[in-house]
Amino acid sequence: MKRVSILGSTGSIGRSTLEVIRKYPDRFEVVALSTGRNIELLLEQIKEFRPRAVAVSDHEKAEILRTHISDVRVLSGLDGLLSVASLEEADFVVSAISGSAGLLPTLQAIRTGKTVGLANKETLVMAGEIVKRELKLYNSRLIPIDSEHSAIFQCLEGRDPSTVRRLILTASGGPFRELSAEQMNNIDVTDALNHPTWNMGRKITIDSATLMNKGLEVIEAHFLFDFSPDAIEVIIHPQSIVHSLVEFIDGSILAQLSVPDMKGPIAYALSYPERLENILQECSLAEIGTLIFERPDIHRFPCLGYAYEALRLGGTAPTVLNAANEMAVDAFLKGIIPFVKIPVIIEEILHAHTPQSINTLEDVLEADRWARRKFNEIVEVR
Ligand code: MG
Repeated sequence: MKRVSILGSTGSIGRSTLEVIRKYPDRFEVVALSTGRNIELLLEQIKEFRPRAVAVSDHEKAEILRTHISDVRVLSGLDGLLSVASLEEADFVVSAISGSAGLLPTLQAIRTGKTVGLANKETLVMAGEIVKRELKLYNSRLIPIDSEHSAIFQCLEGRDPSTVRRLILTASGGPFRELSAEQMNNIDVTDALNHPTWNMGRKITIDSATLMNKGLEVIEAHFLFDFSPDAIEVIIHPQSIVHSLVEFIDGSILAQLSVPDMKGPIAYALSYPERLENILQECSLAEIGTLIFERPDIHRFPCLGYAYEALRLGGTAPTVLNAANEMAVDAFLKGIIPFVKIPVIIEEILHAHTPQSINTLEDVLEADRWARRKFNEIVEVR
C-alpha cells in the first residue's frame, strides 16, 4: 500500500490523481491533502478519502473548515503546507500546486526523503541546481508527472544516457498556432483560456498559449534528465497524441503515445515501475489517421526563445524568467496588460538582469523578488 499526500488536491492534477486512486483503493491510501482556498471541494475529498491531515493556505478558510470537521487535522498557511509535504505517514508526495508557490513544499518533501511525483515544473525552473543537490543529499527521487517528461522518462527507461542524441518535446501550439502576428493583438482572456486539446488550470493554459509552457518544460527537461539545451528540441504537434520522443545516436526515435489525459502520467508516476490497468481510453490510431508535426515559430512565440536563452545564461536567469512570466500572466488575466505584451515584458526583465550563481535557496528567492519588483516598476511606468 502506497501512502500518498497530494499538494494541491483541488486543482486539475490533484483531482485527476484522486480519480486514479479512487480506482485502486487496494494500492493507494490518501494520507494528506491541501488546497489554497477551495474548502468546499476539499471537504468532499476529506469525506471520501479520509486523510489524516489537510492544509489550507488561506487562514480564514482553514478556520471555516475546522468548524465542519473534527476528526481530521486542519493545518493552515505555509507552515501547514510544509507539514503536509513532510508528513511522516506519507511515502509519496504529489506536487501539484501551480506556480512558484509549489517550490518550498516540494523542497520540503525532498528533504524528508519522499518520492515526489512532480507536476509543478516551476520548482525545477526556479531552483533546479538546488533540487538536484538535495535529491542526492536526502536520498529522495523525482518522478515526472508533466506529460512530456513522463513520455521521455518512459522512453529512456533502463537505457544508457550516452546512447541518446536528443530529447524531442512536443507542444500542441496552443489556441493561437495559426494566428498572424497582427491577429494576436486582439486576443482576449477567454480566447487564451480556450485550449484546443488539454483541459488545465488558468496559469498553465496561458503559458501554453504563449509557448512559455514549452520553454519552462525545456528547462525542466534539462534538470530532470541532464541534457544540454542544444540536445533538447521542441516540435509542434497540434493533436497532443505523441507526448514526446527520444532520439538515439543511431538515428532511431522512440515515442510515447496516448490520448491527452493527465491520468496517464499521474498513474505511471504513482505505480512506477509497474503499470495500472485501464487508466486511459483507447488511442485509436486508425481513427486519428494522420499525425501532424511542424516547427515552432519563434517570431510569433518569442517566449520559447527567451526560455532557451535563460537556460543558456544559467544561474538565476531561469528563476527571473519564471517570476517575470508569472507576474505577466497574472497581469494579463486581470486585464492589466494585453496578451502580446507578455513576451515584451519578460524580455525586458530578463535582459535587465545580471545572472548570479545559485548556491542557496535565498539566492533563488532574492532573484524571484528582484524580478517581481522589476515587473512592478515597468508596468507602473506604462
Ligand atoms: Mg506538459
